[in-house]
Amino acid sequence: MCGPAHKQEDDENNNMNTIEIDGSTGEGGGQILRTSLALAMCTGRPLAMHHIRAKRRKPGLMRQHLTCVQAAVAICGGKVEGAEPGSLALCFEPGAVRAGDYNFNIGSAGSCTLVLQTVLPALMLADGPSRVSLTGGTHNPMAPPYHFIERSFAPLLRRLGVGIELSLRRHGFYPAGGGEMSAHIQPAANGLTPFDLTERGTRLQAYAECLAPALPRSVTERELAVLADKLGWPREQLLTVSARQNEGPGNALMATLVHEHVTEVATVFGEKGISAERVANDLVKAVRQHQISDAALGPHLADQWMLPLALAVSTRGGTARFSCTELTQHASTNLDVIERFLPVHVDVEPRPEGTKISLARLPLP
Ligand code: AMP
Repeated sequence: MCGPAHKQEDDENNNMNTIEIDGSTGEGGGQILRTSLALAMCTGRPLAMHHIRAKRRKPGLMRQHLTCVQAAVAICGGKVEGAEPGSLALCFEPGAVRAGDYNFNIGSAGSCTLVLQTVLPALMLADGPSRVSLTGGTHNPMAPPYHFIERSFAPLLRRLGVGIELSLRRHGFYPAGGGEMSAHIQPAANGLTPFDLTERGTRLQAYAECLAPALPRSVTERELAVLADKLGWPREQLLTVSARQNEGPGNALMATLVHEHVTEVATVFGEKGISAERVANDLVKAVRQHQISDAALGPHLADQWMLPLALAVSTRGGTARFSCTELTQHASTNLDVIERFLPVHVDVEPRPEGTKISLARLPLP
């Protein structure tokens, strides 16, 4: 593994050099870990990571990140050192990825979707279909909500050639958790096919939904009323999502903007001490911000899309482009990690109408 005692043995057994990642660089959070684990599995290259989540208030592996590591080990039979709560360093030697039926229980309200995104790239490239069932949070602040994965992210994976079907059995909010979702993944029959995504296209539909299990009905009414009023949306565009009372307490206000080539789901979470009006106003700002630009992808989708696209480019060759409303620190850090693992060169061109990103396969040595 990574330590000096193992190095010589490794060099003899394995001519793949370990990729060393400093988790404190750039954004310095959990995404560097998840992307590194995913790419270690996809490329078969061992990973040595230090300063894990160094820029977070509580650095190191939290329960949700530990589940990501355990999930990675489970799907590829890999070896790991440093997979303990609070650990700041980790060595991961991936084995061969095995398609199959997997259950991951985060055991807290940790995000199911972030654990899914850790194993999805490798399972997309596996030699058969897989089913991944997850228990934890399905609608968490600072993570992609289930509906974002279903409406925004998964349709793009399908355009790469991957079969993916998602289902939500139970909503899970922080802190109670207990949400349940699953993903059925069918790898692309003829390999991943990259494509350009530089325009969102005409807007076909827009609607708002409020999820507020175990909260007074007035919360939903006030949030949707403010949103409709400020965005000028008629009542038919407002929906109340039915969640069972015992799935809360929790509150997510979502706006879904369906365009010809891509769907955006903007979400704002309510919490104790924050008024329903403020939640709605924050979502109004996010929707308006999205409407200023014509770029294809919003900030979250941009940082999540680059990994599957880079895998497609690195396996198929050529160049693929996309445009995004802004290049966040999450996105630029993710690009750096991708370039460490894959033979892909990234070109970033900031423009007033949105940032253009090109991923090109490097010539083989
Ligand atoms: P990290 O903070 O490093 O754990 O990464 C969080 C991930 O969650 C990033 O990929 C973000 O783009 C994503 N994310 C955070 N909030 C949202 C949201 N409201 N909708 C979609 N994705 C989100």
